[in-house]
Amino acid sequence: NLSSRLGHLVKTMRGHSRLTEDNIKDALREVRMALLEADVALPVVKDFVANVKEKAMGQEVLGSLTPGQAFIGVVNDSLTDLMGKQNDALNLAAVPPAIILMAGLQGAGKTTTIGKLSRLLKTEHKKKVLVVSADVYRPAAIEQLRLLAEQVEVEFYNSNSWEDPVQIALDAKEYAKKHFFDVLMVDTAGRLAIDEVLMEEIQKIHAAINPIETLFVVDAMQGQDAVNTAKAFDDALPLTGIILTKMDGDARGGAALSVRHVTGKPIKFIGVGEKVTGLEPFHPDRLASRILGMGDVLTLIEDVQKGIDQETAAEMAKKLHKGKGFDLNDFKAQIVQMRKMGGIESLMAKMPGQIGEMSKHVPEGTAERAMGQVEAIINSMTAKERANPALIKASRKRRIAMGSGVTVQEVNKMLKQFEQSQKVMKQFSKGGMGKMLKMAKG
Ligand code: GDP
Ligand code: MG
Repeated sequence: NLSSRLGHLVKTMRGHSRLTEDNIKDALREVRMALLEADVALPVVKDFVANVKEKAMGQEVLGSLTPGQAFIGVVNDSLTDLMGKQNDALNLAAVPPAIILMAGLQGAGKTTTIGKLSRLLKTEHKKKVLVVSADVYRPAAIEQLRLLAEQVEVEFYNSNSWEDPVQIALDAKEYAKKHFFDVLMVDTAGRLAIDEVLMEEIQKIHAAINPIETLFVVDAMQGQDAVNTAKAFDDALPLTGIILTKMDGDARGGAALSVRHVTGKPIKFIGVGEKVTGLEPFHPDRLASRILGMGDVLTLIEDVQKGIDQETAAEMAKKLHKGKGFDLNDFKAQIVQMRKMGGIESLMAKMPGQIGEMSKHVPEGTAERAMGQVEAIINSMTAKERANPALIKASRKRRIAMGSGVTVQEVNKMLKQFEQSQKVMKQFSKGGMGKMLKMAKG
């Protein structure tokens, strides 16, 4: 995914104060490749990359971010612009029954999704749901819906396969009104490919029952092909939303980007399994991390932009350049910075990969407490001792321990750990949180 592709670039793009055509060229190519690998359709990739480029050019690299990180920020902004920020919920604000019409190719998952949605509406939204099948060409499809309805315990409207699909839908609507159903879900016939006759049929159904939601159901594993199907359905019907099924079989998520780009309609749910529980609200921001594959590193970048104490960072950088090394004064400054950014635990939780994962298994408060202890120990030292911890003799260690309310062993342990981290710090060419972030990313 993109993070592995951009990983080395994030580390090597340095020494620039703004993003330029030149320093983002390689990164743009990686974005393009990553999107193609995620099976995003080519025209969509082209538009997207052009958009990222336009946004990135001339952008300043803030604070202690590296150009690579700044670039990832731009990629993320573009993704958010395209996909939206939040989940779009179902709209049920209609005079009952709120009608939901399902459209899509055969095998996309329309019938299955009706089972899932009915269950959700019934159990979580306490709605009285009626389902009906207008798929008159395949009696087995009607039977499939009847069984699903039985399973999730919603009512199934009995229709006959020799009737006209438009009439069936109208009859079901009448029935739903008469019996005070909140929601009516209308299943339609599958199309193996875009088919004029069937397209006309669903247009007629739509016109007759006037649904509040017209959902286009599309198989995520269709990848590139999803674009053409989505376009055809979007042209034929006033779609109100999209349901992307079989996301459990496609870790790449490229279809989501393509379908959204082509229709401009929100993806409301994703199907994540064959069972009736396999439905989730779609969260565009999570898709961004799915494609970028970077955990919440983006949030982290935002936090750095907000919280970094630029002066401290600059001073530290100067010091390290002079080869003076990283001392306990700097260490304390970093602790203070970290606290400004929401504390060590919230930072750790946002880091991608192992650190983020690890932080979940550490009992809450442990890291903060340890940090507090370290700070207390440093506070009990003189400025000289902080600048050169090697000077600290046994008698002073006892005083420091007493002053900070810890044992001498704990003081020793802290000094030892600091010595180790000092070695790591020496590898950095420039100080500050930016480097720590880089280290976190590997
Ligand atoms: P329809 O022709 O559009 O009504 O599609 P169906 O609802 O009959 O589904 C076609 C196949 O896709 C069935 O085997 C479903 O079990 C399967 N399916 C539907 N949604 C999902 C999903 O989210 N994940 C997985 N793994 N399978 C799904
Ligand atoms: Mg079906």
